[in-house]
Amino acid sequence: MEWIELDGSRGEGGGQILRTALSLSMITGIPFAIERIRAGRRKPGLLRQHLTAVQAAAAVCGAQVEGAVPGSQRLRFQPGPIRGGDYAFAIGSAGSSTLVLQTVLPALWYADGPSTLRVSGGTHNPAAPPADFLIRCWQPLLQRMGVTLDIQLLRHGFYPAGGGEVLASTAPVTAWQPLQLESPGPLQRTRAIGVVSGVPAEIAKREMQRAASSLGPLDEELRVLPANEGPGNVLMVVLEYPELTELFSACGERGLPAETVADQAAREARHYRDSGAAVGEHLADQLLLPMALAGQGSFTTHRLSSHLHSNMEVIGKFLAVDMETREMAGCYRVELG
Ligand code: ATP
Repeated sequence: MEWIELDGSRGEGGGQILRTALSLSMITGIPFAIERIRAGRRKPGLLRQHLTAVQAAAAVCGAQVEGAVPGSQRLRFQPGPIRGGDYAFAIGSAGSSTLVLQTVLPALWYADGPSTLRVSGGTHNPAAPPADFLIRCWQPLLQRMGVTLDIQLLRHGFYPAGGGEVLASTAPVTAWQPLQLESPGPLQRTRAIGVVSGVPAEIAKREMQRAASSLGPLDEELRVLPANEGPGNVLMVVLEYPELTELFSACGERGLPAETVADQAAREARHYRDSGAAVGEHLADQLLLPMALAGQGSFTTHRLSSHLHSNMEVIGKFLAVDMETREMAGCYRVELG
């Protein structure tokens, strides 16, 4: 079979090119070779999160793999048949467990039976979807597309300690349903969820107050975790609409004022809320792969990220699906079919 050749330095030059290729290689059975993995990042090559994603993918389909060592900038992946089952993978650092989950889950939708997938590592990381994002935003849309999926957050994990855990149950998809997201509908509820572990609750309270001063009235939910799950702090702004839920987050850091953390999450939430688009930048790039597997779908979004473009490029190499982006009234419409 012809191998697909990929250049990991394309677009933002991050880990997503590799993860999307792993998912699609498993599903299509097409082997791939990738060079210059994460060439756009300060520490290029495979970090523990990416390595775990490769190892997890290999375990699920019995792949033959070359180059799966820490720091490697090239990889060859030859998949075998996908087997359902009960899997557990440990990243062994605070690398994002949700990104590993998102790599392997799509393959399990094509397995020979139901599966459970347990991943330990970070669950609330900067520059990755928080577990709450997967549960509140991504999962309900996948369920509407015909996917059986139940994701649970078993334990929070933050940078640098990690130690968090997510558990997903899923099953083969019997019939994909088309999903069209043109507008989110009227905003029904705004929440701020302030999470602290080993950090004073006052920090989360200040973050939520600051978010309210920027976004208007909102329901506050304080989540105080046992200190041994941290140290960690994250603020999540949740916007609930009839059609979907969006979530914007920012992670606290030592030396970063709570107000700065809150402003970051609130600014992103406000941009999205004011745009009238159906999905935000992150949900957009994370919906693309399931929609491509479904063979059709569409959404409006307020920002076309480099992640979206590079995801389109990788998907286009594995699947024969048309993907089009069109500008309309200050937003973009992405259509697959
Ligand atoms: P790197 O190459 O630096 O390791 P990475 O492997 O962590 O990066 P990226 O290629 O940058 O991964 O992809 C990150 C993924 O996480 C993208 O799908 C992006 O949409 C998603 N993401 C980033 N920040 C958020 C956020 N705040 N909420 C939801 N999703 C997010």
